[in-house]
Amino acid sequence: MKKIAILGSTGSIGTQTLEVVRENKDIEVLALAAGSNIRLLEKQIREFGPRLAAVWEEESAKELRSLVADLDVEILSGMEGLIRVSVLEETEILVTAIVGMIGIRPTIEAIKAGKDIALANKETLVTAGHIIMPLAKEKNVSVLPVDSEHSAIFQSLRGNGENAVHKILLTASGGPFRGKKQEELLDIRVEDALKHPNWSMGQKITIDSSTMVNKGLEVMEARWLFDVEIDQIQVVIQPQSVIHSMVEYEDGAVMAQLGTPDMKLPIQYALYYPKRRYLKGSRLDFWSLARLDFEKPDMDTFYALSLAYEAGREGGSLPTVFNAANELAVKQFLNREIKYLEITEIIEDCMRAHKNIKNPTLEEILTVEAGVYERIKSRR
Ligand code: NAD
Ligand code: MG
Repeated sequence: MKKIAILGSTGSIGTQTLEVVRENKDIEVLALAAGSNIRLLEKQIREFGPRLAAVWEEESAKELRSLVADLDVEILSGMEGLIRVSVLEETEILVTAIVGMIGIRPTIEAIKAGKDIALANKETLVTAGHIIMPLAKEKNVSVLPVDSEHSAIFQSLRGNGENAVHKILLTASGGPFRGKKQEELLDIRVEDALKHPNWSMGQKITIDSSTMVNKGLEVMEARWLFDVEIDQIQVVIQPQSVIHSMVEYEDGAVMAQLGTPDMKLPIQYALYYPKRRYLKGSRLDFWSLARLDFEKPDMDTFYALSLAYEAGREGGSLPTVFNAANELAVKQFLNREIKYLEITEIIEDCMRAHKNIKNPTLEEILTVEAGVYERIKSRR
């Protein structure tokens, strides 16, 4: 039995991870953490029998304790709960399916405790990659990508030994507003931005996909996972989301991973790496697919992507500013407090106001995050 723990078990990636567990029958779930959906978490506890579970608010933890009083499971709350779930002694792999840079501390603690990381939580790598990757190396821990593009790159790197990567071709669907210009995006409503053409995901990443912030975060995520320069990563729009990403080698050979859009594939691949297992679901049918299209991203309309390249090139604390500003701006947009185009305006404003810190410590990262939140909250 493989022993895992999941941060963010009630979300899109979390529930799909549990589907993979359910199908395979040889994974034991030792611990689960979630935000506030205690009804679903209760069901998951009853089905998968973890010995530890955590929710964010102590109030919810109290409620959950009484819901599962008949079971032998410890219920915790807050950051302490997230960390305990991440470092539980027998766990082999921690699936980081939590959303946002709140995942930094639990991820670092898990690596210190020697857990392999199946990483979906890209915000953590974007903001603290310079701490996490060297630490993982030191602790001999694998950071296995769950993000579909990064899993595709990881798969395309297999069997190529130590051959240098010339370029990473990071594909993007282009989101629901592909082809639109700024003036057509002025009155975008929350409902419009939540309609992704190919993938069904959590709200935050769905908004991020529409602004291309998601692709920007993924450029920075790829930089850390595959140890390449930011400018070796090229974003290619592939509207059908069939090519999940590609690697170009020095001789010009391009390796790609293709498939139907199903996050269970990269999740399962990360959990069983290097083995492939049978996965239920539809297969690519090239006869009905007939064609694949490619485009250059429109970095003027979706200039969050060029801000991300800038943040990634500069490094230091600037990626934290990019990410933290986006996290709060997306929350405000989802709460209908700001307009759609303000998300990227806010990111740019925070980046311009920031004095970069080279190689920030964890404390400095969290201080920068708090400063960004203060700046945004005092905007109006
Ligand atoms: P989601 O919103 O569906 O789920 C997030 C999970 O985190 C939920 O279980 C939520 O309860 C939990 N959570 C949030 N705040 C918490 C807190 N303070 N304490 C404890 N738990 C908390 O998000 P998602 O779409 O599953 O995305 C999760 C991560 O995976 C993100 O970093 C996202 O960028 C990445 N990712 C998602 C997809 C996808 O298909 N959904 C694809 C690639 C990468
Ligand atoms: Mg992705």
